[in-house]
Amino acid sequence: MPTELEWNFIVQTALCLLIAGIVLSLLFTGSRKLSPLHKQLLKVLPGMNCAQCGHATCEGYAAALSSGNCRLDLCTPGGPDTAAALGRVLGVDSQVPDLDEMLFVPRTVALIHESSCNGCGKCLKHCRVDAIEGSPRQPHRVLTEECIGCGDCVKNCPQECVEMHKLPPSLREYDWKLGPLRKSEPEVL
Ligand code: SF4
Ligand code: SF4
Ligand code: SF4
Repeated sequence: MPTELEWNFIVQTALCLLIAGIVLSLLFTGSRKLSPLHKQLLKVLPGMNCAQCGHATCEGYAAALSSGNCRLDLCTPGGPDTAAALGRVLGVDSQVPDLDEMLFVPRTVALIHESSCNGCGKCLKHCRVDAIEGSPRQPHRVLTEECIGCGDCVKNCPQECVEMHKLPPSLREYDWKLGPLRKSEPEVL
């Protein structure tokens, strides 16, 4: 059976933990507080969190818009109406883009001219998404499906035999803007 001193110790420790918990939860809630502009922008967005705008969530896109460093027409699911509504919230004239253009922007990917490739492998080492394959001293090639169009291989090819090109417009080649969600930096060997 605990003595009176031990009971006091237990009760005081429990109280301290309770107070610390309340303070921490208040601090956390405060740091998550969104500005009124951020909230208004968020209300206009569809809330699908699909990342097609290049931000992982609608909240991220709303944050970028509220900081003023972002285009209004990046939310493809929302389309021109959402772009116009964002323009109204921000008090700017939004050039409402053509819906077809928003939906069918073809992807830009790298292409290796194999006849000039000496197989040095520098492009492969700089590709952050493993979209290039090839054996040493053999012509390399780009796996189009994997390429996110960052252009790092173009910058790092000593033979200048890689170029970027747009795929033909089609639903299959739609730009899902997955780049920001994948591994961020290439491992340079
Ligand atoms: S594209 Fe639109 S719906 Fe998708 S995450 Fe961005 S803002 Fe949200
Ligand atoms: S453009 Fe970027 S993702 Fe595509 S192959 Fe080159 S380095 Fe890889
Ligand atoms: S860096 Fe250029 S030359 Fe070297 S493997 Fe890649 S494409 Fe070929």
